[in-house]
Amino acid sequence: MNNKHASTTTKDDSSEKISCPQCLELEEMATALEDFIGRVNGQLLKSEMSDMELEQIFSVCVDPMIVIRVDGIIVRVNRQMLTLLDKTREQVVGLECSELLTEKECQLATASRKTTQTDIDLINSDGEQVSYIMTTSRLVTLDGTPGTLAQYKDITERKQAERDLAEAHTALERIAKIDGLTQIPNRRTFDETLLSQWQQLSTAQQPLAIILCDIDFFKKYNDHYGHQEGDDCLVAVAQGLNNTLPDTTGLAARYGGEEFIFLLPNTTLESACIIAEEARKNVENLKIDHAGSDVVPHVTLSLGVSSVIPNDETRALDLIKAADDALYRSKENGRNRVTSTEE
Ligand code: GH3
Ligand code: MG
Ligand code: MG
Repeated sequence: MNNKHASTTTKDDSSEKISCPQCLELEEMATALEDFIGRVNGQLLKSEMSDMELEQIFSVCVDPMIVIRVDGIIVRVNRQMLTLLDKTREQVVGLECSELLTEKECQLATASRKTTQTDIDLINSDGEQVSYIMTTSRLVTLDGTPGTLAQYKDITERKQAERDLAEAHTALERIAKIDGLTQIPNRRTFDETLLSQWQQLSTAQQPLAIILCDIDFFKKYNDHYGHQEGDDCLVAVAQGLNNTLPDTTGLAARYGGEEFIFLLPNTTLESACIIAEEARKNVENLKIDHAGSDVVPHVTLSLGVSSVIPNDETRALDLIKAADDALYRSKENGRNRVTSTEE
């Protein structure tokens, strides 16, 4: 009975559908609407799934990442970026880029280029300086507007290693140029500077002068006071000579043992002799006791001076030889004196 009734009702329904054109149209529209809603729901689900997937990719990525919309509003951020900023998601998403990031970062994030890559130095939440490579890439955000994905690669350790290497390099360069005991330029620096000055002054046809200085009876000094005191004496004399340098263009170097040398560009023999006499007096005025000296009871210098306008026929070594010969005459004539090539 029930079955029959049901069958009758179905039959009645179908005959109603067929007999009412408006009803048929409405039914078709309802089906189409259901289809449409189904598709939209499907799309929404897909979009939510994509959003979740994106969120997962964001959170598993070890580098800090942030998405900034074209109008400068931050729309997405990952955990690592929140740690870097020391903020919560709520404190970040929806903010203007300039309220959180540096001017440089915001400029890069809104730059028109497709991708950019720049080194950025930041101060982290612990107040330490950290370095990142910031890479920006254009994308379309989930709401359909253009934006930028900024990724930060931590290069703090690499930067520190670079700084350490640069410091070590500078220290090595210094060690190679400076005399370890007296801390004034060494023989190597003198030799290199002499060659370059020789070339320059040969072209300019200007004089280059040399003053060779030798501590008198220094062996006896060591014998009397000991080698350590001898070292201290060399340091004091080096400083005295360095202070005699007329300007920064000249050089006072340790030439070897208890010998020192001045290299004076644009200096005539006459001017060099004046500087040499000043150097002699400066060292004598240090009044360093020298009981073993046969000259006076304190440390003194003998000096030899030469000067030449470099040309193709002379060599730099001849200039040094001439100063050495003059120094020898200073020794011969009683020490504690200045002798030039013309004496
Ligand atoms: P002169 O007056 O003829 O120049 O005699 P001198 O004793 O100064 O010259 P000599 O060449 O006979 O001796 C130089 C001495 O300098 C011998 C050496 O032990 C000493 N000397 C060289 N380098 C150093 C150093 O770095 N430290 C110390 N303490 N002594 C040094
Ligand atoms: Mg000597
Ligand atoms: Mg000597």
